[in-house]
Amino acid sequence: MVKLETIGACREVGRSAFKLTNDDGDQVILDYGLSMKDDAKDNFPGDVEPRRIKAVVCSHAHIDHSGALPYLYISARPNCYMSSATRMFIKYLLEDMLHISGEKLPFEDIELKNLMKATQVVNDYTTAINVPGTKASLKFYDAGHIPGSVMVVVSIDGKNVLYTGDMNAIDTRIQWAAKSGGFPPLDAVIIESTYAKTVHPPRIETEQKFIQVIKEVLDGGGQVLIPAFGVARSQEILSILQQYGLQKKKIVLDGMARGISIDLLKYQGDLRSVYSIDKVTMVKTSRTRFEREKAMETGDIIIAPSGMLKGGTARYYAENFLENPKNGVILVSFQVPGTPGRVLLEEHRYELNPDEESYQTRAPPGAAKGAKVEIPVKARVEHFPFSSHSDGPTLLSFIKGLPFKTNGSEPKVFCIHGDSDNCDHLAEIVTEHVKGVTAVVPKMGDEFTI
Ligand SMILES: [Zn+2]
Ligand SMILES: [Zn+2]
Repeated sequence: MVKLETIGACREVGRSAFKLTNDDGDQVILDYGLSMKDDAKDNFPGDVEPRRIKAVVCSHAHIDHSGALPYLYISARPNCYMSSATRMFIKYLLEDMLHISGEKLPFEDIELKNLMKATQVVNDYTTAINVPGTKASLKFYDAGHIPGSVMVVVSIDGKNVLYTGDMNAIDTRIQWAAKSGGFPPLDAVIIESTYAKTVHPPRIETEQKFIQVIKEVLDGGGQVLIPAFGVARSQEILSILQQYGLQKKKIVLDGMARGISIDLLKYQGDLRSVYSIDKVTMVKTSRTRFEREKAMETGDIIIAPSGMLKGGTARYYAENFLENPKNGVILVSFQVPGTPGRVLLEEHRYELNPDEESYQTRAPPGAAKGAKVEIPVKARVEHFPFSSHSDGPTLLSFIKGLPFKTNGSEPKVFCIHGDSDNCDHLAEIVTEHVKGVTAVVPKMGDEFTI
């Protein structure tokens, strides 16, 4: 018998973590991520006992799946299985996270180093890997979400459990779609529900409209800022720009988008299409302000993190671009309510942070400390959410295509990684359209026997 404990990502997008335990007490942990909320209280998944863990799987590098992993490496050194691209991304993201909010975290550089030493890179997705000291095995499948993202089947005590992590079952510019073929007969599926209630427009349509807006801004003599997450989204945007013939324009990559765009080319064999960095202007975060000022003056299209304008070098360009009505600021991911990107989009407002360099110079004389300082928004602001998650109909057809066991026991589908509405909706449509399975929306800390 296998026990599943849902210790994160229950009715929320954040702190993904699941624990499988067999009769011998061996544990396999699937992801150990942080919550995206700002308050530190509930940011971590439920507790585990690191010394009982025989294997950890990291589905992909996003912080909501990987951010708490170093916490498992304070007193123990379990093997952590991931793809090679995930390992590369994690180094960037977790180092950056420790740099920015290290004081608030219960681990330090040393635990991150321990994690990196304990990683077992999986390059071959065609054969199962035996977990040393157990009868459990792991098999990876491409998840189509970001480069290096995987789904995993854990085979333990005769049961096969599929964990999708975050997945996208349609082709995007740089990624192949996740497929529902090739799995062994399944006893349980733990599947994300992020956009279960949404129907995405065809990707090609979004790309064409996005390019149209960029051309209009450039033809009108303006410059374009694309705030984008450094991992995957920046590279997808670069690839789209080049495939629609904009490679002759001066494209600038700044901050983390730059380093990752260079490093990801080492894994280009895994990508659906490859972008070029030959004629792209690269601005290093650590360089002097001069380089960034020059890029801002001469660049046609600037891609810089972060995607929701919460931080990162995009903020430097935004405050300078937004005042010019000829310019365009194009947001390319979901904008979480309350983030500067969402406020810009809905209220056409942009506020400077008191710790930003220009805050002092732009604050009116005699303004109280910490007073609101806003930039007048005159630029064109547009939003094209290039989602890297499947929508509802795609999730349902993926689940319908899965080979569930039919030997009397009723396989279960656990709908996680979504707000309550989306998780409930996925469970409803699975119950209605997929015969012979039980769909469940687990709560934090629930236990199930598989
Ligand atoms: Zn993700
Ligand atoms: Zn996620």
